[in-house]
Amino acid sequence: MRSIKTVYKIGQGPSSSHTVGPFRAAKWFKSLYPEADVFDVTLFGSLAFTGEGHGTGKAIRRILPDAVIHCNNDETDLPHPNTMLFKAFRGGELLGSKRIFSIGGGSIRWEGGGGHEEDREIYPQKTFGEMLYHCHQEGISLKEFIYRTEGPSLTPYLAAVWAAMKEAVERGLAAEGELPGGLHNKRVAKMINKTRCYNESPDVTMNRMIASYAYAVSEENADEGVVVTAPTCGSCGVLPSLLYFMQKDKGFPENEILEALAVAGLIGNVIRTNASISGAECGCQAEIGSASSMAAAALATLYGLSAKQTEYAAEIAMEHSLGLTCDPVGGLVQIPCIERNTVGAMRAMDAVNLSRFMTGIRKISFDDVVETMYQTGKDMNEKYRETAHGGLAEIYRKPV
Ligand code: SF4
Repeated sequence: MRSIKTVYKIGQGPSSSHTVGPFRAAKWFKSLYPEADVFDVTLFGSLAFTGEGHGTGKAIRRILPDAVIHCNNDETDLPHPNTMLFKAFRGGELLGSKRIFSIGGGSIRWEGGGGHEEDREIYPQKTFGEMLYHCHQEGISLKEFIYRTEGPSLTPYLAAVWAAMKEAVERGLAAEGELPGGLHNKRVAKMINKTRCYNESPDVTMNRMIASYAYAVSEENADEGVVVTAPTCGSCGVLPSLLYFMQKDKGFPENEILEALAVAGLIGNVIRTNASISGAECGCQAEIGSASSMAAAALATLYGLSAKQTEYAAEIAMEHSLGLTCDPVGGLVQIPCIERNTVGAMRAMDAVNLSRFMTGIRKISFDDVVETMYQTGKDMNEKYRETAHGGLAEIYRKPV
């Protein structure tokens, strides 16, 4: 399995598959043909269906400002739902072309094998069960296992990731106004954060704070701000909302937050390796479900729960996200995405609470639920996998 660093990418929203991945693909392809004078890009599958709402063209033009971009909605027999065909020309002559796939979480692959430098496998284990066994044999915790495998470069990387996450929360809490795209959705994070209910209990305050942080990051993402894939842009508010609450409102120190990020990254990495974190491939269960699972593991780590309790918390969060469809209204990452980040954070908290006293009697492992999520995603009707052709996207009738 690859480094957990590859789960967290700092980039521009609103979609890791549709903006971060295509941006990186354009950058890589341009580096192959620096002498080209014309670039031509065709988007297929989900990128063709929702690319406009998700800002794919804009992301590519940041690297290739004069690229000619086409959408091909007809071809359905694709190697991956997020496929792009890049061509480079000089003086009217084709220099070369490449099919590149945006495989989720901002990662890319290209036809004929290969991917970015991030392809190096550093974990000999592939499943969570294998990792737990290794930790048990060595008598080490999950945290120790990760830091031993990743080496000293992990801490500064996670520190940069955490700084970007906090900045996204804080920018989102300060911002007001309408989100782009035509749905006329207003930013509400600041209002949620500042509006105290009459006679509010500490529990309600806690939920309100976490909700405001999740909204803040998700609204930043919808507004094309800089966020961190955790594991995707669409689900980028779940994990930071809980970690921000634990640091700011509960006083957990920086080093413990980074350890929690590491364990969350391991969970996201196992899901990505053995299943998918792409809404286009497996629906929203792969995005918000994975984010919720990661956040549950992070919270369990901060509370000092055992490796098995941590696994169970992550399993519960995913199990009860199974079947969650992707149906973004207008192809924008706003409805249901923003609210769903808050719900994902709440589910993570519930999962941790259950795991404290239920771990001994559970029947389903984390690996089982990851495999189930993947199979469910593969069986899902295509219109529930980020095409904006089903569910809320279809039912919502107001003009966009
Ligand atoms: S519905 Fe879920 S998977 Fe689909 S775009 Fe929104 S957050 Fe991503």
